[in-house]
Amino acid sequence: MDCIFCKILNKEIPSNVVFENDKILAFYDIAPQAPIHVVIIPKIHISSANEVNEENSKYISEIFTAIPEIAKKLGIADSGYRIINNCGRDGCQSVEHIHFHMLGGRKMSEIF
Ligand code: AMP
Repeated sequence: MDCIFCKILNKEIPSNVVFENDKILAFYDIAPQAPIHVVIIPKIHISSANEVNEENSKYISEIFTAIPEIAKKLGIADSGYRIINNCGRDGCQSVEHIHFHMLGGRKMSEIF
């Protein structure tokens, strides 16, 4: 499968890992949009939010369970951060492996 994030999981492409367990991987975004910009992905290929279901949702739940620990590790737990998921064409999703952006280190826009 020609999925860049699966290639990162398979170590075919290098990444700067921030957090990892048996279900998820978090690594620094290659084109950061904030002083701290991390991408969190499940270790199974789920194309987008449209493909989340009862069977695979434990991976999504694991992402949200790890978010406080990742934020603490990055030093942004107290200052705050934004979690973003882009889905599909209108959501401007560019990598078709579901992922959550964690953005912090500056005040985000108050307008989406
Ligand atoms: P999205 O536009 O929501 O699909 O987000 C995809 C994100 O993946 C973008 O912010 C890219 O900068 C990031 N990205 C793409 N390739 C890599 C890579 N090899 N390593 C780290 N981040 C990447």
